[in-house]
Amino acid sequence: MVENTIEKLRSLRAEALQKISAAKTSDQLESVRVEYLGKKGKVSEVLAALKDLDADSRKKVGQISNEVKSVLEDGISSTRDQLQQSEMDAELKKDSLDSTAPGITYFRGKIHPIRQVLREAISILELAGLSAAYGPEVEFEDYCFDKLNFKPGHAARDMQATFFVKTDEGAKPLVLRTHTSPVQVRSLLTAAKNNFTLPIRIQAPGRVYRMDDDSTHAPMFHQIEGLAVDTSSTMGDLRAVLDFFFRKFFDQSVKIRFRPSYFPFTEPSAEVDVSCVFCAQKGCRVCKQSGWIEVAGAGMVHPEVFEACGWDPKKVQGWAFGMGVERLAMLKLGVPDLRLFFENRMSFLRGAR
Ligand SMILES: [Zn+2]
Repeated sequence: MVENTIEKLRSLRAEALQKISAAKTSDQLESVRVEYLGKKGKVSEVLAALKDLDADSRKKVGQISNEVKSVLEDGISSTRDQLQQSEMDAELKKDSLDSTAPGITYFRGKIHPIRQVLREAISILELAGLSAAYGPEVEFEDYCFDKLNFKPGHAARDMQATFFVKTDEGAKPLVLRTHTSPVQVRSLLTAAKNNFTLPIRIQAPGRVYRMDDDSTHAPMFHQIEGLAVDTSSTMGDLRAVLDFFFRKFFDQSVKIRFRPSYFPFTEPSAEVDVSCVFCAQKGCRVCKQSGWIEVAGAGMVHPEVFEACGWDPKKVQGWAFGMGVERLAMLKLGVPDLRLFFENRMSFLRGAR
């Protein structure tokens, strides 16, 4: 019986020492300690059986078991020191600074190029005395077309260009506005209601929608337009404002010219060109060798528009212009493809101003 117990203790010692040296982490080592020396551990179990032995045997076994215990405790404590040391080394290594490692690049957020250009355009037009006015993007069809003198059947009202909005039967027909010009209608209607207050000097920046989607057209894009109404607004004033705008927006050296054109809501109407900002009018691919680039449409407010908005066209005069913001941005930033503004590629957006 005593020999058996002693034998058992010796084999436990050998077994435990092997496990101690095999422990790879201090956690593993701790479970070895609990397995052998814990309250319900294997060595403790053997010692608990001592009470059944006679005094002599108890002494003998007690001596050996104390020896085994202290050998294991020593083994565990020195192994624990080693493991903790190497664990700390590993931890330090992980946190150490490698001054040759490539840095992490942090990119600052930027305002989208379209928004930047729009803001710049707004602030220049404010200098010209036009204050920003806004209207809804879901607009009455009437404000978008009829009151702007688009006759029924006009191409712009065609299903292919206009997004029509489903409405309840009997409700006023709605569209996604195809241009910012309904803001002109709203301003004229409001001023008419307010005792025909003059002058009206507004700019209308915002999103517009058309059913186009190719390299030169997007289904959503931005326009900014101006409207000035007074008893004596002239085409000369219009030209001066646009001249001021484009010199500020591009460069003091740009010139503008008016070419006769047609829009339903202005008469006379003009296309506005600026001298090519890329070739100083020597001729290049962008201006198709002409030295001029089309940037805006403009004209005197059509009498029909005044009438439709409750004004007497014999008593007032007004001018208006409209520009595509994406086009302005392409010219200003030298961006060759409209779609870059909408694809949100990080490489493009990071490169933007
Ligand atoms: Zn050119």
